[in-house]
Amino acid sequence: MRRISMAHGAGGSVMQELVKGPILSNLGGSGAEVPLEALDDSSVMSGVVLHTDSHTVQPLFFPGGDIGRLAIAGTVNDIAVMGADPIALTAGFILEEGFPFADLRKILRSMKETCSEAGVYVITGDTKVMEKGAIQEFVINTSGIGVRSSALDENVEETRKFRDVSSPWLLDSNLREGDKIIVSGTVGDHGVAILSSREGYGFETEIASDVKPLNRLITRLLQTGGIVCMKDPTRGGLSNSLNEWSEKSGTGILTKEDKIPVESGVRAACEMLGLDPLEIGNEGKLVLGVVPEKAEDVLQELRGTSEGQDAQIIGEATNRFDRVVLETSVGGKRILLPPAGDPIPRIC
Ligand code: MG
Repeated sequence: MRRISMAHGAGGSVMQELVKGPILSNLGGSGAEVPLEALDDSSVMSGVVLHTDSHTVQPLFFPGGDIGRLAIAGTVNDIAVMGADPIALTAGFILEEGFPFADLRKILRSMKETCSEAGVYVITGDTKVMEKGAIQEFVINTSGIGVRSSALDENVEETRKFRDVSSPWLLDSNLREGDKIIVSGTVGDHGVAILSSREGYGFETEIASDVKPLNRLITRLLQTGGIVCMKDPTRGGLSNSLNEWSEKSGTGILTKEDKIPVESGVRAACEMLGLDPLEIGNEGKLVLGVVPEKAEDVLQELRGTSEGQDAQIIGEATNRFDRVVLETSVGGKRILLPPAGDPIPRIC
């Protein structure tokens, strides 16, 4: 009998099989404007952008954040990358019997602070407790709704000066030949920070998670214009995001390894453990597809912010290939396949 493995929840190609098989065949078919079948960051129906996310990170507290900050930022970001303003969130808490009140208060305070950073509120929720051992410590589900942002309208207007815009939303399927790919900063920080806080890994430098709500930054970028797609490269990392774009847009992507920013401590940790930083999840980074005429403007806007100071143009969409190709630092080329699962489990 086939059973669920950790890889089925890891965001890579194994999870895609589960989602595209039993989940979509039973739950698809809504006819929504952006339906479940689009497997995008959020769905859109009757003008409302809707997203949900469960958070099972271990440990609950890690350098740069905790499960509460992650739960708010993760949902805010998945709504904002569609081109929507998040307006309200829900929070469902599942606690293990015996969980310390002091930790719960700390996590709730962190959620409150992250909400005020993003300018949103939790307006409804649910609390359940399970017997000791039936669940590990604390699991949080957050859902959120958003509405079309006026900055998205400005973005569409600016983009139309250069080319036709098929969907007004920033969908994974919008990338076209010649579009530039921009990453907003160093990749791999979040996953490596989680790993470093687990027992048995004594890295020399402490790597902090990048977990952060990015909706205010996204508004600024949309006002600059020319953005056709946007993603938060979470589970499966940059590699997974680029592969989703390539597959759904039907275009190849050529990306240059030496343009992709990786923090030196993250690079060292990855080398030591045999991990690829391009496959490791981020929680405070963006990858953007931008029409070539506006790529430099978006890059400069990003570099003027604290979250985007390390931003780089890392490649472009091209019909020379039908998949994602990485040009390595030594000048060779290799196909960048989507990871089967996340190399570090339970990072979000
Ligand atoms: Mg996402």
